[in-house]
Amino acid sequence: MSGLQPVRGTHDLFPPDMRRHRAVVDTARAVAERYGYGEVATPIFEFTEVFQRTLGDTSDIVTKEMYTFTDRGGEQITLRPEYTAGIARAFISGGLQQQLPLKVFCHGPMFRYERPQKGRLRQFHQIDIELLGVAQPQADIEVIALGWDILTALGLDDRCVLELNTLGDTASRAAYRKVLVEYFRAHLDQLSEDSRTRLERNPLRILDSKDTGDRRIVAGAPSFEQYLNPESAAFFAQVKAGLDALRIPYKLNPRLVRGLDYYCHTAFEFTTEALGAQGTVMGGGRYDGLIELMGGPPTPAIGWAAGIERLAMLIAEPPAPPRPIALVPMGADAELKAQALAQALRRAGHVVELGYGGNMKRRLQRANKVNARAAIILGEDELKRSAAAVRDLDSGDQQEIPLDRLGTHLAQFR
Ligand code: ATP
Ligand code: MG
Repeated sequence: MSGLQPVRGTHDLFPPDMRRHRAVVDTARAVAERYGYGEVATPIFEFTEVFQRTLGDTSDIVTKEMYTFTDRGGEQITLRPEYTAGIARAFISGGLQQQLPLKVFCHGPMFRYERPQKGRLRQFHQIDIELLGVAQPQADIEVIALGWDILTALGLDDRCVLELNTLGDTASRAAYRKVLVEYFRAHLDQLSEDSRTRLERNPLRILDSKDTGDRRIVAGAPSFEQYLNPESAAFFAQVKAGLDALRIPYKLNPRLVRGLDYYCHTAFEFTTEALGAQGTVMGGGRYDGLIELMGGPPTPAIGWAAGIERLAMLIAEPPAPPRPIALVPMGADAELKAQALAQALRRAGHVVELGYGGNMKRRLQRANKVNARAAIILGEDELKRSAAAVRDLDSGDQQEIPLDRLGTHLAQFR
């Protein structure tokens, strides 16, 4: 442990990182707003119960990954590992039932105690979309289309694949669950310990196990499709037809599950091969039972979350910030004048760097270091004439310009 190191699995976002991060968030927000999704934010921590009850006590998140602590008042608090539960809690506690359908976009930090590696952090960030109050497959199509449009706007559509599955309705799931438990029970001795504990409470999750031994067993498991009742099959057919109509390509993946009981019908992930093992950039699904499970009114809902770090690694370098104009005052009078001039130019929309000290040479070096486009040299003689020397730092050309014409003159450097 060293107090001077960031905590394992956390990272600092310096300006170049933050530019990528912001490009992801700003792009996602802009697209989401075009779909009529409004930005919200919920607290970074909630009562532990909010996640425990909703994520289920067999999920990886609840069993292994939550940052939970008792606060000074004795409350059990958890740093949010995901957004959906917090949104559902806010929907209930905020009494938003009259505002359905509710369409929200949010983003922010999440916390999971995981084994850190590339693309897998303990504090990471997500963008998140939730659509509450729509039971029709139109909602499933819309949120997937919105995710796809964001990936497209980020220039990632040719590197991401939509994987799609259905978990059917409650009746279909119950039927499937039964045969699945029977099948896995027959192979109990070959299952990993995690999967054995999941067998009774959450057998669907075994389908998604990363354990190689489990995967061999899973390969021979009965598939869900045969157990889908006609209503569930029709729902899925509508989702697929909607995606076809929008020309959104997808790959059916019968092993893709969101293993919690309140998940139903559509489950999907956008994956990429460009990130190695951490290849899922976006994951989501329909969770019609969640809000009721939390004590709210029965409310159908669907949403997704995407990892900002993973997307930020994939996107092209965002445009560099505008090159600044460096102000180089010479002498005490000029120094004072420079502050006011910098303020006026900044108010007029220019990016201005004001050197903090040193001789002209040092300040010009600094101007080069910040990649300034031009320097305004405020010498005593020029100031007496109410003028300044403006040097084009790319060409080296220098011209004396009256102060009241500076703004106009600088326009060429923007
Ligand atoms: P994984 O299978 O990679 O653990 P998950 O199923 O736990 O993912 P979700 O809970 O669906 O992931 O979260 C949605 C998205 O958030 C993921 O697809 C991924 O892009 C991102 N994400 C999840 N956990 C992390 C993490 N620890 N570090 C960075 N990004 C993450
Ligand atoms: Mg995980």
